[in-house]
Amino acid sequence: MLRTVLPRLAALFLAAVHLVVLSAPPAAAQRNIAIVRDAEIEALISEYARPILKAAGLARSGIDIVLVNDRSFNAFVAGRRIFIHTGTLTDAETPNEIIGVIAHEAGHIAGGHQERLRQQIQRAQTMAIVAALVGIGAGVAGAASKSGGLAQAGVGIAAGGAEVARRGLLGYQRSEEATADRTAIDYLNATGQSAKGMLTTFERLAGGLALAGVNVDPYQISHPMPRERIANLQEVARKSLHFDRKDPPQLQLRHDFMRAKIAAYTQGANAVTRLFRSDPRGLAARYGDAISTYLHGNPGAALKKADALVAELPRNAYLQELRGDILIKANRPLDAANAYAKAIALAPGRPGLLQVGYGQALMATGKPDLVKKAASELQTGLSREPEFANGYRYLAQAYGQLGDIPAAELATAEGHFHSGQYRDAKLFALRAQKQLKPGSPGWLRAQDIIQYKQPG
Ligand SMILES: [Zn+2]
Repeated sequence: MLRTVLPRLAALFLAAVHLVVLSAPPAAAQRNIAIVRDAEIEALISEYARPILKAAGLARSGIDIVLVNDRSFNAFVAGRRIFIHTGTLTDAETPNEIIGVIAHEAGHIAGGHQERLRQQIQRAQTMAIVAALVGIGAGVAGAASKSGGLAQAGVGIAAGGAEVARRGLLGYQRSEEATADRTAIDYLNATGQSAKGMLTTFERLAGGLALAGVNVDPYQISHPMPRERIANLQEVARKSLHFDRKDPPQLQLRHDFMRAKIAAYTQGANAVTRLFRSDPRGLAARYGDAISTYLHGNPGAALKKADALVAELPRNAYLQELRGDILIKANRPLDAANAYAKAIALAPGRPGLLQVGYGQALMATGKPDLVKKAASELQTGLSREPEFANGYRYLAQAYGQLGDIPAAELATAEGHFHSGQYRDAKLFALRAQKQLKPGSPGWLRAQDIIQYKQPG
């Protein structure tokens, strides 16, 4: 299941930096900001990124990839996170195009670009930066589209805004772009991958800029693409040994499944049809169709479509996950739990997100022994995905059903904590602590939440 969740405050403001670039007014833009959580997409993107980050010497730096629910093309680095818009993923026809973008962003990280902005972001008050960046974002949009209205809206809000933000948001220097391109090609060569996807992507974006209207992708603004940059890139990329190497067919299929899923969830059935116009009965088109039917149609029909796909791809974990989602909707929690259990067994590394789905289904059965199992599955799932704030709500429900009120209150406290709602978190942690044995693990965790001080 693809879920869009509101990020924690820190992520929210970092995402806001680029997200709002082309959408004013800021208040409306902020409403739209959401992070996408999905086991299938996250597994694929981290597979794309792993060898590149290793080649860049960043494998141990704990770089996280965060998916932002936004139709435009954008990818950017903030601190230790690489943010990628879902629109970037659906626009890319091949895995290699996304791998190229990740290689370029890794080049910026390894090169220490925008270092000053990052340091200043760490020091400044969060909300001050949000206000400044949102305002400047709108200003940049106005400048890009040559429409005075937007620019003026931006200037008003940015009036007290920081110089920092201006310098950072206006993007990388041309010299930094050239460095990141060259470094990216080194990483691609070192990992035996083609630089063609990166070239295709940047050519497409550079072409788009020439026709610039209001819908310029934010990426084009932060990553300047003058003609000579593209020309240099063409020359160097074509020299690479692996230029004509294609992505393995299995990877291409997973890529198309990802695009089908994002299209079905964020834009609906017609978007899936458009995306796979050239192969309307192919596996990816049918996957998107099954998801659309699950989301907007009858669960029985969706289940038939999912089962037909399972018959062709019996080892695909995420088809089992889809079956679980459908069976929950069909009010068959026990069958759903079995489907999620299969998904977990088939997915490498027991993804915490799948475990949360499993726990939810077990809880929905209402059978005391299964609810007990639900609590322990949710607990382990969340220990792997501690920032998945929604999951704590189910955990609290499970403990509630089991009559363990202090544990339910502690889970609620965790949920608020990981959503950045510290006041509510402390309230529930205090209530939990009063009923817990002093010094027990739950009591200590409650204490951590009570004593937590927000950075900055
Ligand atoms: Zn760049």
